[in-house]
Amino acid sequence: MRRKLSILGATGSIGKSTLDLVERNPGRFEVSAVTAATSVETLAQIARRTGARLAVIADEARLTDLQDLLAGTDCRAAAGPDALVEAAAGDAELVIAAIVGCAGLRPTMAAVDAGRTVALANKEALVTAGALMTDAAARSGATLLPVDSEHNAIFQCLAGSRSEQVSRIILTASGGPFRMASAEIIREATPAQAVAHPNWSMGAKISVDSATLMNKGLELIEAHYLFGLPSDRLDIVIHPQSVIHSMVEFVDGSVLAQLGSPDMRIPIAYALAWPERMDTPAQRLDLVSIARLDFEAPDIQRFPALRVAREALEAEGAAPTVLNAANEVAVASFLAGDIRFTDIARLVEEALATADLGAPQTVDDVLEIDRVTRGQVRAMMKASCA
Ligand code: NDP
Repeated sequence: MRRKLSILGATGSIGKSTLDLVERNPGRFEVSAVTAATSVETLAQIARRTGARLAVIADEARLTDLQDLLAGTDCRAAAGPDALVEAAAGDAELVIAAIVGCAGLRPTMAAVDAGRTVALANKEALVTAGALMTDAAARSGATLLPVDSEHNAIFQCLAGSRSEQVSRIILTASGGPFRMASAEIIREATPAQAVAHPNWSMGAKISVDSATLMNKGLELIEAHYLFGLPSDRLDIVIHPQSVIHSMVEFVDGSVLAQLGSPDMRIPIAYALAWPERMDTPAQRLDLVSIARLDFEAPDIQRFPALRVAREALEAEGAAPTVLNAANEVAVASFLAGDIRFTDIARLVEEALATADLGAPQTVDDVLEIDRVTRGQVRAMMKASCA
Protein backbone atom coordinates (compact mmCIF):
# COMPACT_ATOMS: atom_id res chain seq x y z
CA MET A 1 0.00 0.00 0.00
CA ARG A 2 1.42 3.38 -0.99
CA ARG A 3 1.19 6.10 1.66
CA LYS A 4 -1.10 8.93 0.54
CA LEU A 5 0.32 12.44 0.97
CA SER A 6 -0.99 15.96 0.75
CA ILE A 7 1.78 18.53 0.28
CA LEU A 8 0.77 22.03 1.45
CA GLY A 9 3.34 24.50 0.09
CA ALA A 10 4.54 22.07 -2.59
CA THR A 11 6.33 24.79 -4.60
CA GLY A 12 8.55 25.97 -1.73
CA SER A 13 11.91 24.80 -0.46
CA ILE A 14 10.46 22.13 1.91
CA GLY A 15 7.83 21.17 -0.67
CA LYS A 16 10.49 20.56 -3.33
CA SER A 17 12.72 18.55 -0.98
CA THR A 18 9.69 16.43 -0.09
CA LEU A 19 8.90 15.87 -3.77
CA ASP A 20 12.50 14.88 -4.44
CA LEU A 21 12.20 12.08 -1.85
CA VAL A 22 8.75 11.05 -3.04
CA GLU A 23 9.91 10.82 -6.66
CA ARG A 24 12.92 8.69 -5.65
CA ASN A 25 10.49 6.25 -3.98
CA PRO A 26 7.61 5.85 -6.44
CA GLY A 27 6.39 2.58 -4.94
CA ARG A 28 6.13 4.02 -1.48
CA PHE A 29 4.08 7.21 -1.79
CA GLU A 30 1.10 8.55 -3.67
CA VAL A 31 0.54 12.32 -3.82
CA SER A 32 -3.15 13.15 -3.58
CA ALA A 33 -3.10 16.97 -3.20
CA VAL A 34 -0.62 19.80 -3.73
CA THR A 35 -0.93 23.53 -2.99
CA ALA A 36 0.81 26.86 -3.61
CA ALA A 37 0.15 30.57 -3.13
CA THR A 38 0.75 32.09 -6.58
CA SER A 39 3.28 29.86 -8.44
CA VAL A 40 0.69 28.50 -10.81
CA GLU A 41 3.00 27.06 -13.49
CA THR A 42 5.21 25.23 -10.99
CA LEU A 43 2.14 23.90 -9.18
CA ALA A 44 0.63 22.59 -12.41
CA GLN A 45 3.93 20.91 -13.35
CA ILE A 46 4.09 19.25 -9.92
CA ALA A 47 0.48 18.09 -10.17
CA ARG A 48 1.11 16.59 -13.62
CA ARG A 49 4.36 14.91 -12.56
CA THR A 50 2.95 13.38 -9.37
CA GLY A 51 -0.52 12.51 -10.65
CA ALA A 52 -2.14 14.47 -7.79
CA ARG A 53 -5.96 14.53 -7.89
CA LEU A 54 -6.30 18.02 -6.40
CA ALA A 55 -4.18 21.15 -6.99
CA VAL A 56 -5.01 24.28 -4.99
CA ILE A 57 -3.78 27.78 -5.62
CA ALA A 58 -4.39 30.17 -2.72
CA ASP A 59 -4.71 33.17 -5.03
CA GLU A 60 -8.24 32.90 -6.47
CA ALA A 61 -7.36 35.20 -9.39
CA ARG A 62 -5.13 32.41 -10.77
CA LEU A 63 -7.74 29.66 -10.81
CA THR A 64 -8.47 29.97 -14.53
CA ASP A 65 -4.76 29.74 -15.33
CA LEU A 66 -4.48 26.63 -13.18
CA GLN A 67 -7.54 25.07 -14.84
CA ASP A 68 -6.04 25.75 -18.29
CA LEU A 69 -2.67 24.32 -17.28
CA LEU A 70 -4.32 21.14 -15.93
CA ALA A 71 -6.72 20.63 -18.84
CA GLY A 72 -6.79 17.01 -20.00
CA THR A 73 -5.53 15.60 -16.67
CA ASP A 74 -7.44 13.89 -13.82
CA CYS A 75 -6.37 16.65 -11.48
CA ARG A 76 -9.05 19.05 -10.23
CA ALA A 77 -7.99 22.68 -9.91
CA ALA A 78 -9.32 24.73 -6.99
CA ALA A 79 -8.50 28.02 -5.30
CA GLY A 80 -8.90 29.98 -2.10
CA PRO A 81 -8.94 29.30 1.64
CA ASP A 82 -11.67 26.61 1.67
CA ALA A 83 -9.87 24.67 -1.04
CA LEU A 84 -6.64 24.79 1.01
CA VAL A 85 -8.58 23.31 3.92
CA GLU A 86 -9.97 20.64 1.61
CA ALA A 87 -6.43 19.72 0.50
CA ALA A 88 -5.38 19.46 4.16
CA ALA A 89 -8.32 17.45 5.45
CA GLY A 90 -8.89 15.25 2.40
CA ASP A 91 -8.02 11.59 1.99
CA ALA A 92 -4.26 11.83 2.67
CA GLU A 93 -2.89 9.87 5.59
CA LEU A 94 0.12 12.18 5.95
CA VAL A 95 -0.09 15.96 5.46
CA ILE A 96 3.14 17.87 4.85
CA ALA A 97 2.46 21.31 6.37
CA ALA A 98 5.01 23.46 4.51
CA ILE A 99 3.21 26.73 3.86
CA VAL A 100 5.23 29.64 5.20
CA GLY A 101 3.75 31.85 7.91
CA CYS A 102 0.41 32.21 9.65
CA ALA A 103 -1.21 31.67 6.22
CA GLY A 104 -0.72 27.96 6.95
CA LEU A 105 -2.67 28.00 10.20
CA ARG A 106 -6.17 27.13 8.96
CA PRO A 107 -5.11 24.30 6.64
CA THR A 108 -2.71 22.86 9.25
CA MET A 109 -5.44 23.00 11.90
CA ALA A 110 -7.85 21.32 9.47
CA ALA A 111 -5.41 18.41 9.11
CA VAL A 112 -4.99 18.24 12.89
CA ASP A 113 -8.75 18.37 13.49
CA ALA A 114 -9.21 15.57 10.96
CA GLY A 115 -6.82 13.40 13.02
CA ARG A 116 -4.17 13.13 10.31
CA THR A 117 -0.46 12.58 10.81
CA VAL A 118 1.00 16.03 10.20
CA ALA A 119 4.63 16.53 9.21
CA LEU A 120 4.98 20.04 10.56
CA ALA A 121 7.44 22.40 8.87
CA ASN A 122 5.15 25.44 9.18
CA LYS A 123 6.47 26.51 12.61
CA GLU A 124 4.59 29.84 12.52
CA ALA A 125 1.26 27.95 12.68
CA LEU A 126 2.32 26.22 15.90
CA VAL A 127 3.90 29.35 17.39
CA THR A 128 0.83 31.48 16.75
CA ALA A 129 -1.74 28.93 17.98
CA GLY A 130 0.34 26.55 20.10
CA ALA A 131 -2.01 25.45 22.86
CA LEU A 132 -5.01 25.35 20.51
CA MET A 133 -3.13 23.10 18.09
CA THR A 134 -1.77 20.68 20.68
CA ASP A 135 -5.19 20.48 22.38
CA ALA A 136 -6.82 19.82 19.00
CA ALA A 137 -4.28 17.05 18.30
CA ALA A 138 -4.99 15.46 21.70
CA ARG A 139 -8.75 15.54 20.93
CA SER A 140 -8.58 14.23 17.37
CA GLY A 141 -5.71 11.76 17.83
CA ALA A 142 -3.58 13.57 15.24
CA THR A 143 0.18 13.01 15.40
CA LEU A 144 2.49 16.02 15.00
CA LEU A 145 5.82 14.98 13.50
CA PRO A 146 8.33 17.85 13.62
CA VAL A 147 10.15 18.54 10.35
CA ASP A 148 12.21 21.48 11.63
CA SER A 149 15.65 19.86 11.88
CA GLU A 150 16.12 20.81 15.56
CA HIS A 151 12.73 19.51 16.69
CA ASN A 152 13.08 16.44 14.53
CA ALA A 153 16.43 15.80 16.25
CA ILE A 154 14.81 16.21 19.68
CA PHE A 155 11.93 13.92 18.68
CA GLN A 156 14.48 11.29 17.65
CA CYS A 157 16.50 11.70 20.88
CA LEU A 158 13.40 11.51 23.08
CA ALA A 159 12.27 8.28 21.39
CA GLY A 160 9.27 7.95 23.66
CA SER A 161 11.03 8.88 26.96
CA ARG A 162 8.72 10.12 29.72
CA SER A 163 8.88 13.88 30.38
CA GLU A 164 10.05 13.36 33.99
CA GLN A 165 13.18 11.66 32.61
CA VAL A 166 14.16 14.80 30.67
CA SER A 167 16.01 17.62 32.42
CA ARG A 168 16.45 19.99 29.48
CA ILE A 169 16.46 20.41 25.74
CA ILE A 170 19.40 22.09 24.02
CA LEU A 171 18.52 23.64 20.67
CA THR A 172 21.50 24.26 18.43
CA ALA A 173 21.71 27.33 16.17
CA SER A 174 24.18 27.97 13.37
CA GLY A 175 24.33 31.66 14.32
CA GLY A 176 23.37 32.68 10.76
CA PRO A 177 25.30 34.86 8.32
CA PHE A 178 26.03 37.63 10.88
CA ARG A 179 27.42 35.45 13.67
CA MET A 180 30.81 37.19 13.49
CA ALA A 181 29.55 40.59 12.31
CA SER A 182 29.84 43.79 14.34
CA ALA A 183 26.71 45.69 15.45
CA GLU A 184 27.50 48.34 12.77
CA ILE A 185 27.64 45.77 9.96
CA ILE A 186 24.43 44.14 11.20
CA ARG A 187 22.70 47.53 11.19
CA GLU A 188 23.56 48.05 7.50
CA ALA A 189 22.74 44.45 6.44
CA THR A 190 20.99 44.12 3.07
CA PRO A 191 18.33 41.53 2.18
CA ALA A 192 20.83 39.74 -0.11
CA GLN A 193 23.33 39.42 2.76
CA ALA A 194 20.63 38.32 5.21
CA VAL A 195 19.31 35.48 3.03
CA ALA A 196 22.80 34.08 2.34
CA HIS A 197 22.76 31.40 5.03
CA PRO A 198 26.15 29.73 5.60
CA ASN A 199 24.86 26.12 5.93
CA TRP A 200 21.24 25.75 4.79
CA SER A 201 19.38 26.59 1.58
CA MET A 202 15.86 27.76 2.55
CA GLY A 203 13.00 30.11 1.63
CA ALA A 204 13.56 33.87 2.06
CA LYS A 205 11.47 34.36 5.22
CA ILE A 206 13.13 31.66 7.32
CA SER A 207 16.54 32.76 6.01
CA VAL A 208 15.97 36.29 7.38
CA ASP A 209 14.66 34.77 10.64
CA SER A 210 17.89 32.76 10.87
CA ALA A 211 19.92 35.94 10.39
CA THR A 212 18.10 37.85 13.18
CA LEU A 213 17.99 34.66 15.33
CA MET A 214 14.21 35.14 15.51
CA ASN A 215 14.11 31.69 13.94
CA LYS A 216 15.69 30.26 17.09
CA GLY A 217 13.19 32.26 19.15
CA LEU A 218 10.29 30.81 17.17
CA GLU A 219 11.88 27.38 17.67
CA LEU A 220 11.99 27.88 21.45
CA ILE A 221 8.23 28.44 21.39
CA GLU A 222 7.77 25.52 18.97
CA ALA A 223 9.77 23.25 21.35
CA HIS A 224 7.68 24.39 24.32
CA TYR A 225 4.45 23.35 22.59
CA LEU A 226 5.78 20.15 21.02
CA PHE A 227 7.62 18.78 24.04
CA GLY A 228 5.85 20.47 26.98
CA LEU A 229 8.96 21.95 28.66
CA PRO A 230 9.01 25.44 30.24
CA SER A 231 11.35 28.20 29.09
CA ASP A 232 13.96 27.56 31.83
CA ARG A 233 14.47 24.00 30.55
CA LEU A 234 14.97 25.08 26.94
CA ASP A 235 18.54 26.18 26.20
CA ILE A 236 20.17 27.48 23.05
CA VAL A 237 23.76 26.98 22.01
CA ILE A 238 25.42 28.37 18.90
CA HIS A 239 27.04 25.56 16.91
CA PRO A 240 28.30 27.01 13.62
CA GLN A 241 28.91 23.71 11.78
CA SER A 242 25.21 22.64 11.95
CA VAL A 243 26.25 19.01 12.43
CA ILE A 244 24.51 18.45 15.78
CA HIS A 245 20.88 19.35 15.14
CA SER A 246 19.87 19.47 18.83
CA MET A 247 20.27 17.55 22.09
CA VAL A 248 18.30 16.23 25.03
CA GLU A 249 19.76 16.05 28.53
CA PHE A 250 18.23 13.42 30.81
CA VAL A 251 18.01 13.47 34.61
CA ASP A 252 20.97 11.10 34.97
CA GLY A 253 23.25 13.55 33.11
CA SER A 254 23.23 11.62 29.81
CA VAL A 255 22.96 13.84 26.74
CA LEU A 256 21.67 12.41 23.47
CA ALA A 257 22.28 14.29 20.22
CA GLN A 258 21.22 13.72 16.62
CA LEU A 259 23.85 14.44 13.98
CA GLY A 260 23.71 14.62 10.20
CA SER A 261 24.70 16.77 7.26
CA PRO A 262 22.65 19.97 6.91
CA ASP A 263 20.14 18.61 4.39
CA MET A 264 16.42 18.99 5.10
CA ARG A 265 15.77 15.73 3.25
CA ILE A 266 16.95 13.88 6.40
CA PRO A 267 14.24 15.19 8.78
CA ILE A 268 11.65 15.16 5.97
CA ALA A 269 12.47 11.50 5.25
CA TYR A 270 12.12 10.72 8.94
CA ALA A 271 8.61 12.17 8.91
CA LEU A 272 7.69 10.50 5.60
CA ALA A 273 8.77 7.05 6.73
CA TRP A 274 7.93 7.30 10.45
CA PRO A 275 7.84 5.01 12.39
CA GLU A 276 10.22 3.34 9.90
CA ARG A 277 13.23 4.94 8.21
CA MET A 278 14.04 5.36 4.54
CA ASP A 279 17.12 5.93 2.40
CA THR A 280 18.02 9.49 1.37
CA PRO A 281 20.62 10.89 -1.03
CA ALA A 282 21.92 13.22 1.72
CA GLN A 283 25.66 13.39 2.07
CA ARG A 284 26.99 11.13 4.84
CA LEU A 285 28.85 12.73 7.74
CA ASP A 286 32.61 12.54 7.55
CA LEU A 287 33.63 13.47 11.08
CA VAL A 288 37.34 13.25 10.33
CA SER A 289 37.10 15.88 7.61
CA ILE A 290 34.79 18.03 9.77
CA ALA A 291 37.46 17.56 12.49
CA ARG A 292 35.97 19.91 15.08
CA LEU A 293 32.62 20.99 16.46
CA ASP A 294 32.39 24.43 18.08
CA PHE A 295 29.91 25.80 20.60
CA GLU A 296 29.33 29.31 21.94
CA ALA A 297 26.66 31.21 23.85
CA PRO A 298 24.22 33.32 21.81
CA ASP A 299 24.79 37.09 21.96
CA ILE A 300 21.46 38.74 22.79
CA GLN A 301 22.96 42.23 22.52
CA ARG A 302 23.60 41.89 18.78
CA PHE A 303 20.61 39.55 18.30
CA PRO A 304 17.83 40.95 20.53
CA ALA A 305 15.13 38.95 18.69
CA LEU A 306 16.14 35.93 20.73
CA ARG A 307 15.49 37.75 24.02
CA VAL A 308 12.20 39.19 22.73
CA ALA A 309 11.00 35.73 21.65
CA ARG A 310 11.89 34.18 25.01
CA GLU A 311 9.99 36.97 26.77
CA ALA A 312 6.97 36.25 24.55
CA LEU A 313 7.15 32.55 25.41
CA GLU A 314 7.24 33.39 29.12
CA ALA A 315 4.43 35.97 28.85
CA GLU A 316 2.21 33.32 27.11
CA GLY A 317 -1.38 34.40 26.29
CA ALA A 318 -1.41 36.23 22.96
CA ALA A 319 2.30 37.12 23.10
CA PRO A 320 3.52 34.37 20.72
CA THR A 321 0.75 35.32 18.25
CA VAL A 322 1.73 39.00 18.39
CA LEU A 323 5.43 38.12 18.11
CA ASN A 324 4.83 36.01 15.04
CA ALA A 325 2.54 38.47 13.26
CA ALA A 326 4.84 41.45 13.93
CA ASN A 327 7.84 39.48 12.76
CA GLU A 328 6.13 38.38 9.52
CA VAL A 329 5.24 41.96 8.61
CA ALA A 330 8.66 43.30 9.58
CA VAL A 331 10.54 40.60 7.63
CA ALA A 332 8.43 41.22 4.52
CA SER A 333 9.15 44.97 4.79
CA PHE A 334 12.87 44.33 5.25
CA LEU A 335 12.91 42.05 2.18
CA ALA A 336 11.09 44.80 0.24
CA GLY A 337 13.84 47.25 1.22
CA ASP A 338 11.52 49.41 3.35
CA ILE A 339 13.15 49.02 6.79
CA ARG A 340 16.56 48.21 8.26
CA PHE A 341 17.54 44.75 9.44
CA THR A 342 17.73 45.98 13.04
CA ASP A 343 14.20 47.43 12.79
CA ILE A 344 12.79 43.89 12.71
CA ALA A 345 13.44 43.05 16.38
CA ARG A 346 12.66 46.64 17.43
CA LEU A 347 9.22 46.58 15.78
CA VAL A 348 8.41 43.18 17.25
CA GLU A 349 9.36 44.37 20.72
CA GLU A 350 7.26 47.52 20.33
CA ALA A 351 4.28 45.51 19.10
CA LEU A 352 4.52 43.26 22.16
CA ALA A 353 4.82 46.23 24.50
CA THR A 354 1.57 47.77 23.23
CA ALA A 355 -0.51 44.63 22.62
CA ASP A 356 -3.39 43.29 24.68
CA LEU A 357 -2.01 39.87 25.63
CA GLY A 358 -5.21 38.02 26.63
CA ALA A 359 -5.02 34.38 25.51
CA PRO A 360 -6.85 33.51 22.27
CA GLN A 361 -9.58 30.88 22.82
CA THR A 362 -10.19 29.93 19.20
CA VAL A 363 -8.40 29.98 15.85
CA ASP A 364 -10.61 32.93 14.89
CA ASP A 365 -9.25 34.80 17.93
CA VAL A 366 -5.69 34.01 16.80
CA LEU A 367 -6.41 35.28 13.30
CA GLU A 368 -7.97 38.46 14.69
CA ILE A 369 -4.93 39.15 16.91
CA ASP A 370 -2.73 38.45 13.89
CA ARG A 371 -4.72 40.91 11.75
CA VAL A 372 -4.72 43.67 14.38
CA THR A 373 -0.99 43.26 15.06
CA ARG A 374 -0.13 43.47 11.36
CA GLY A 375 -2.08 46.74 11.13
CA GLN A 376 -0.32 48.14 14.19
CA VAL A 377 3.14 47.27 12.90
CA ARG A 378 2.37 48.82 9.50
CA ALA A 379 1.22 51.98 11.31
CA MET A 380 4.44 52.01 13.39
CA MET A 381 6.52 51.72 10.23
CA LYS A 382 4.59 54.55 8.57
CA ALA A 383 5.01 56.74 11.66
CA SER A 384 8.76 56.11 11.83
CA CYS A 385 9.13 57.00 8.10
CA ALA A 386 7.04 60.19 8.43
P1 NDP B 1 9.19 28.90 0.84
O1 NDP B 1 9.02 30.36 0.85
O2 NDP B 1 10.29 28.30 0.05
O3 NDP B 1 7.82 28.18 0.38
C1 NDP B 1 6.60 28.52 0.97
C2 NDP B 1 5.46 27.72 0.37
O4 NDP B 1 4.23 28.22 0.92
C3 NDP B 1 5.32 27.88 -1.14
O5 NDP B 1 4.75 26.72 -1.69
C4 NDP B 1 4.35 29.07 -1.26
O6 NDP B 1 3.70 29.12 -2.53
C5 NDP B 1 3.40 28.74 -0.13
N1 NDP B 1 2.71 29.93 0.38
C6 NDP B 1 3.27 31.14 0.68
N2 NDP B 1 2.34 32.00 1.10
C7 NDP B 1 1.16 31.34 1.08
C8 NDP B 1 -0.19 31.71 1.36
N3 NDP B 1 -0.50 32.96 1.74
N4 NDP B 1 -1.15 30.78 1.20
C9 NDP B 1 -0.86 29.53 0.78
N5 NDP B 1 0.40 29.12 0.48
C10 NDP B 1 1.40 30.01 0.63
O7 NDP B 1 9.30 28.46 2.38
P2 NDP B 1 10.11 27.23 3.01
O8 NDP B 1 9.82 25.98 2.25
O9 NDP B 1 11.50 27.64 3.26
O10 NDP B 1 9.43 27.13 4.44
C11 NDP B 1 8.14 26.58 4.63
C12 NDP B 1 7.92 26.41 6.13
O11 NDP B 1 8.87 25.46 6.62
C13 NDP B 1 8.17 27.71 6.92
O12 NDP B 1 7.27 27.76 7.99
C14 NDP B 1 9.59 27.54 7.47
O13 NDP B 1 9.80 28.22 8.68
C15 NDP B 1 9.65 26.03 7.68
N6 NDP B 1 10.99 25.47 7.61
C16 NDP B 1 11.71 25.58 6.46
C17 NDP B 1 12.99 25.06 6.39
C18 NDP B 1 13.77 25.11 5.11
O14 NDP B 1 14.86 24.52 5.04
N7 NDP B 1 13.31 25.76 4.07
C19 NDP B 1 13.62 24.43 7.56
C20 NDP B 1 12.75 24.33 8.70
C21 NDP B 1 11.48 24.85 8.72
P3 NDP B 1 4.33 30.01 -3.75
O15 NDP B 1 5.52 29.22 -4.26
O16 NDP B 1 3.24 30.09 -4.73
O17 NDP B 1 4.74 31.33 -3.15
